[in-house]
Amino acid sequence: MADGAGGAPAGVRVDLTGRVALVTGASRGIGRAIAVKLAASGASVAGVARSLEGLQATLEAIRAAGGIAEGYAANVAVAADVQRVVDEVEAKFQRIDVLVNNAGVTRDGLMLRMEDHAWQEVIDTNLKGTFLFSRAVGVAMMRARYGRIINISSVAGLVGNPGQANYAASKAGVIGFSKTVARELASRGITVNVVAPGFVTTDMTDALPDKIKTEVKERIPVRRFGTPEDIAELVCYLASPSAGYLTGQVIAVDGGLTA
Ligand code: NAP
Repeated sequence: MADGAGGAPAGVRVDLTGRVALVTGASRGIGRAIAVKLAASGASVAGVARSLEGLQATLEAIRAAGGIAEGYAANVAVAADVQRVVDEVEAKFQRIDVLVNNAGVTRDGLMLRMEDHAWQEVIDTNLKGTFLFSRAVGVAMMRARYGRIINISSVAGLVGNPGQANYAASKAGVIGFSKTVARELASRGITVNVVAPGFVTTDMTDALPDKIKTEVKERIPVRRFGTPEDIAELVCYLASPSAGYLTGQVIAVDGGLTA
């Protein structure tokens, strides 16, 4: 990471000391960057992915920098897994102040040839998983009369993308879900916002053919793919107590792609 003035780390500076953040899909990519940034801001981080082995690198990065992190294995699409993790995190840390629903998958293909399982897997992980974690964590947040829920959507959920009918539907669903839950929970001090990344360099986009990557880059006004840290910066601000008057919003972090 580039250094700012005086050797301090560059980027958004918020104080999350004493806060507990649960981040799904924390094993790599955007989720790892979010977990690392929240921990660097003082939060204790509970990272979720399908395997504990997958989470090790994230946990080690946080602990090596002096932060606090624990890993939890769960499939976000399975209600029993989600409730078990939330119970374990609450038992360990006594609270959950911040929930980042970041876990996501793609199973791309043209709609006319899309198989049922490709549709269902994407909807279950990206949309149902967001619902399950929000519901499970929302109970404690209501009790505490404080919470920050940040859901990771995609520009595909705003403007569509050929070959991603399932993914775009799931991500548009996350937006409608978030706007509704923002209204339901606002009076309890809980904010719910959506971050919609454009093209970000991770395993998910590495799979794209080079020709497509070059074409996409030409359509991005900023002329580069985003980094996971570009997304983590905004998530960190939305996770902070300072962002209490910001709820029900969708913010695209996409280099101007949807401007
Ligand atoms: P990634 O590198 O493929 O990582 C996906 C993460 O989700 C991994 O940590 C993975 O963990 C976890 N995950 C997937 N299915 C899961 C499940 N059923 N239960 C628990 N964890 C699960 O993806 P990424 O690019 O960082 O994307 C992160 C989020 O940003 C996703 O929601 C994605 O849709 C969104 N997004 C990405 C881009 C982009 O350009 N990269 C653009 C727009 C939006 P394990 O595999 O270890 O279980």
